[in-house]
Amino acid sequence: MNASLERISSEIRDIQDFPKQGIVFKDITPVLANGQLFRLAVNTLSDRHHAHNLDRVLGIDARGFIFAGAVAYKLGIGFVPVRKKGKLPYKTNSITYDLEYGRETLEIHQDALRPGHKVLIVDDLLATGGTAAAAAELVTKLGAEVVELAFLIELEFLNGRRNLRNYKIFSALKY
Ligand code: AMP
Repeated sequence: MNASLERISSEIRDIQDFPKQGIVFKDITPVLANGQLFRLAVNTLSDRHHAHNLDRVLGIDARGFIFAGAVAYKLGIGFVPVRKKGKLPYKTNSITYDLEYGRETLEIHQDALRPGHKVLIVDDLLATGGTAAAAAELVTKLGAEVVELAFLIELEFLNGRRNLRNYKIFSALKY
């Protein structure tokens, strides 16, 4: 791991049993609160890409928005939100998937992407991969192409890549 990533890693806080018993939550708020580290994190996600190879950056509700918005701004390309059910005002496509406990529904605006659009999906953390796989399916159902899924953090022991076999995946920090 390079020195920049080590600095980010050292500021990620483990919160035991949040939001449920048995979960170790990776709290990124200390990274966000540090301007240098936030910039390093955004640069790590965006520097591997060029605006001419992408049409949109897609962020996943809610922490994904923090990074995806900044990556889109940095690359100078448009941002698309994927949101939890009932938050997007226009016509939507939706997908419901299983979480470790319970179910979740994600939505995208039907006109958010066009066939052939090249899309970078950004989220803060890859756990089981269910959320990312659902977001990727919303993209492909609109005829667009997932160029990469990029995460600040990957929890490798949950094997989220198993749910994302068809896609290119980047993660900056692996635990
Ligand atoms: P998953 O669908 O299991 O890959 O879960 C991914 C989503 O849940 C991401 O959007 C994360 O923000 C959040 N998440 C899951 N597990 C954790 C964790 N241990 N710490 C922080 N966020 C998590």
